[in-house]
Amino acid sequence: MAKKAEARIIISLACTECGERTYTTTKNKKNDPQRLELKKYCPRCRAQKLHREVK
Ligand SMILES: [Zn+2]
Repeated sequence: MAKKAEARIIISLACTECGERTYTTTKNKKNDPQRLELKKYCPRCRAQKLHREVK
């Protein structure tokens, strides 16, 4: 049996600089209807870069 509505979904985060998909995480669709943007370390750029949600 699934919980109510599927509010939490799995997303991946891609570096906005090089496009590398470095992280996967979950988000709450109700709290974050837009694309998530997080500053995270990118091993390819070897620096903190902005990562954006991709499908
Ligand atoms: Zn990168």
